[in-house]
Amino acid sequence: MSGLRIPLEGPDGAGTAHALNLLAPNPSPMTLDGTNTWVIGRGEEVLVVDPGPDDPGHLARVAGHLRERRVAAILLTHGHHDHSGGARTFAGLVGAPVRALDPRHRLGDEGLEDGDVLRAGDLELHVVATPGHSFDSLCFWLPEDGAVLTGDTVLGRGTTVIAPDGHLAEYLRSLDRLRAVVERVGAQALLPGHGPVLPDPVGALDGYIAHRRRRLDQIRRAYEGGAVTPRRIVEAVYADVDRSLWPAAEMSVRAQLDYLGLA
Ligand SMILES: [Zn+2]
Repeated sequence: MSGLRIPLEGPDGAGTAHALNLLAPNPSPMTLDGTNTWVIGRGEEVLVVDPGPDDPGHLARVAGHLRERRVAAILLTHGHHDHSGGARTFAGLVGAPVRALDPRHRLGDEGLEDGDVLRAGDLELHVVATPGHSFDSLCFWLPEDGAVLTGDTVLGRGTTVIAPDGHLAEYLRSLDRLRAVVERVGAQALLPGHGPVLPDPVGALDGYIAHRRRRLDQIRRAYEGGAVTPRRIVEAVYADVDRSLWPAAEMSVRAQLDYLGLA
């Protein structure tokens, strides 16, 4: 078990002993500082998780960072463009397959499934299926560092949204499952798809689960109070949230109304 590598500023260069974040330059309200591309390994062989968007400068920087090391596989936490868009280009640069749950995002014969164990040299990375943010969301547990890569299932700041290809009930089950996993393995850090490393996995997941329950209660109350359209509910419940995020909030409200049986 190794300590966190504490970044001096921002998430670029953050991580744990065998997981390094190289931040993609695509900041936005939805992607926070940008997409975190994770390089996992020690020695000659590495795994690269989420090459990020198809940004030639970023992909060249990641490839350059690897120098002579071989990429055993490129892994996707899910198929959303800010994580997967550069996967094919990057695969061409480093000569590695792309493995993902969704066959449409694979390059090569192998996919990714719950329970799979990947290897970079003598390091193991275990696949934990966490559908919900998107139907194909996965987390990766790195036992050597006591770290779990969470993609967009848990972000380093704020909370995640349920995308149109996601599912709130599944997401809530995945948060419960992930909480049980991090508690069982004694995880020391969550390495998210956006934002900084989270050093208290159980606390972070408890916060996420409590936030979801609170939002569902607020939405139920707003609905019962007469705000019957998603837009009106956003105005009532997400008044404190930056307006640029309201379309995402509206998407999230639709998912929550559906979950509550009020859609
Ligand atoms: Zn993302």
